[in-house]
Amino acid sequence: MPEILPLALPPISTERLTERFLRYVAIDTTADPGAESFPSNPNELALAELLAGELRDLGLADASVDGFGYVVATLPGNRPAPPIGLIAHLDTAPDAPGAGIRPILHRNYQGQALVLPGAPELDLSPATCSALTAAVGEDLITSDGTTLLGADDKAGIAVIMSALDALAGQPDWPHGDLRIVFTPDEEVGNGTRHLESARLGLKFAYTVDGGAAPEFNEETFEAANATIRVAGHNVHPGKAKGILINAVEVLGDLIALLPKDRTPQATSDRQGFIHPTSISGGVEQARLDLILRDFEPAGLAWLGDILSELVASIRLRHPGAGVELEIRPAYPNMKAYLAADPRISAFALEALAEAGLEPRIVPIRGGTDGAMLSRAGILTPNLFTGSGNHHSRLEWASVHQMAKAAEVVLRLVRRWAATAG
Ligand SMILES: [Zn+2]
Repeated sequence: MPEILPLALPPISTERLTERFLRYVAIDTTADPGAESFPSNPNELALAELLAGELRDLGLADASVDGFGYVVATLPGNRPAPPIGLIAHLDTAPDAPGAGIRPILHRNYQGQALVLPGAPELDLSPATCSALTAAVGEDLITSDGTTLLGADDKAGIAVIMSALDALAGQPDWPHGDLRIVFTPDEEVGNGTRHLESARLGLKFAYTVDGGAAPEFNEETFEAANATIRVAGHNVHPGKAKGILINAVEVLGDLIALLPKDRTPQATSDRQGFIHPTSISGGVEQARLDLILRDFEPAGLAWLGDILSELVASIRLRHPGAGVELEIRPAYPNMKAYLAADPRISAFALEALAEAGLEPRIVPIRGGTDGAMLSRAGILTPNLFTGSGNHHSRLEWASVHQMAKAAEVVLRLVRRWAATAG
């Protein structure tokens, strides 16, 4: 049985939480997918240094930033329990503008449509975002509609910092070593690229990078990327009859055959898709890049088979063309790895329930740092941040839900501490 201690939950200051969140979103850390540097936006280093300073102020004396922008810090435990990682990312998505964010605080939200002055044409209401129905009575933060908010993932950072802030006020709350990790460039797929995960000394961690309460994520897509290269044969178009092979046309035929019921816009829940993301080339050479996503390895393999068969039929139709298909694994569904120790999810679900929430287990139609970490041996499911509409100008965060997420973190580290000895 877990030890039950007669300790009150350390109070979480929503005022300081809000201040933190606003301080973090003021720094534009939009990731740049085309950058040669790492991190892709130098402002990520500025946020990293700010956070390292705040972590030291909270008593995490070893807080440091490495040359890539990774923030790592340790709160030493007061119980001999397994060390637990708490992870969030510094960058924001490049899908919407992220500079000059002007946050608006909407106190005591009543379920109405929120009008953002910079984008009155956009509709932010329960009709377009069902999670807002559950946010009635809460204080919400949005941008002014001209930028995203950056709650993905500065809400996650604020949640972790607020949990540490609460622990600083109550050092007797039981926990093992807590290893804090803030990663750059998660949104461009590089969150763990330069992270020496083996040196973290962790077997268990949680990303705080999810959506609205009470979501819990233990599944990501199983992901692969593909490239199709077509080699044509170019001659002068005036003397081309029976000779010219147009790579553009060959590729066009292939794209026309892609299954229309397996696109991102035609699928939801647990369905997988094939998504052509970019096309380039000319008569002589043409190239198509695609991403393949499913939740099951067998489903992903099936999508790969569909592509292979398409390529084979195109070769028959255009015998003189060279058509090459390459499929590369991208990231794994973390669920298979998490199964190695059921406590990683079970304790999170217990912590959610203890916090008065009825957990909703939602598969992520995407990836997280946790997918790569779980494969590398650090089991890392994902906790909610209390925010929604990520990557868009309609992004929102709930002060109440961010505080609830910090409470879940506190209850979760105590649950792990109860395994001590
Ligand atoms: Zn995120």
